[in-house]
Amino acid sequence: MTPEELARLKGAMTPSYPFAGVPTFLRVPIQSDVSRLDADVAVLGIPTDEGSPFLPGSRFGPRGIREHSLRFGSRGYYDGRDDRQYLDFELENGLVADLGDVDVLPTNAEGTWDNITEAMRGVLSSGALPVVLGGDHAISAPVVRAWDRPVHVVHFDAHIDYSPFRHGFMYTNTHPMRHIRAMPHVASITQLGIRSLRNGMTDVHDSLGDGNRVIAMEEYRDVMGRGLVEQLPRDIPVYVSIDIDVLDMALVPGCVSAEPDGLTYNELRETLIALSEHTEVVGFDLVEVNPLLDIGTGITSYLAAHTIMEFLGHICAQPRWIERRQERAESRRRRATGEA
Ligand code: MN
Ligand code: MN
Repeated sequence: MTPEELARLKGAMTPSYPFAGVPTFLRVPIQSDVSRLDADVAVLGIPTDEGSPFLPGSRFGPRGIREHSLRFGSRGYYDGRDDRQYLDFELENGLVADLGDVDVLPTNAEGTWDNITEAMRGVLSSGALPVVLGGDHAISAPVVRAWDRPVHVVHFDAHIDYSPFRHGFMYTNTHPMRHIRAMPHVASITQLGIRSLRNGMTDVHDSLGDGNRVIAMEEYRDVMGRGLVEQLPRDIPVYVSIDIDVLDMALVPGCVSAEPDGLTYNELRETLIALSEHTEVVGFDLVEVNPLLDIGTGITSYLAAHTIMEFLGHICAQPRWIERRQERAESRRRRATGEA
């Protein structure tokens, strides 16, 4: 889309209020054809909760998060903490696209997973940074499967998500990290905020035995986010998976698996900012928002949109991201004109 077309679209069709209009993420343009994706950042919804053995409803997560993202307007946000504007360049130049949702095949988990991986491969081959809206946590496995180069996975969660595969029971939100660990391109996994009393001892021991770093709340509070991030490998890109239940129970009424003794919002934000500064973040997801369980003000969806916006804002504010703007623009131009 040319800047003129974009300006015309915005001028003609962008309502001023969050309750009006079509809710794409931050009201960015829809680009539903992944093969023609022309953006630096691609938002992808995965509306499935078939991996939720307990209360369903996180299939409405992408819609809830998009809707509440509209409360931030469409021109980036101002952060008084450092007196600066974030995401303004990306949003004003049409560099963020909303791809819409992956096609879900009800009762066919493997088919849905294939669609997720295929959509993700399309995003990655376009060069855009994927921002994934869940869905329950099962979706992270087919998302991470799409990479074909080494990644380190940083997993925020109250839960270890490392259940063994038994009787074909393997596509749930209790399994994603066991799938991810088995992928040859996944160099390592760091699990943060792990604390649920429902985490089985053998699951935790299996994760540790497989070489994952498991950081419980005591260690987290001891070292804090920045200290932890400084211990991560620097020479390898990082994929980040955020289960909203890593935050304290009181913050996330719209999450079926909320647990006590979790992170404060500031603790999560500081860790995400440190990740954006110290590592190359090549994509992230936010999962387990369930609008059906949320309270009337939709604060869980709101907090999810808030978290995504701030994390993305800091990723796009890093020198390594800004330095490559020209390179990305050139590669988008070559893609659009069909040059190799
Ligand atoms: Mn989880
Ligand atoms: Mn969890």
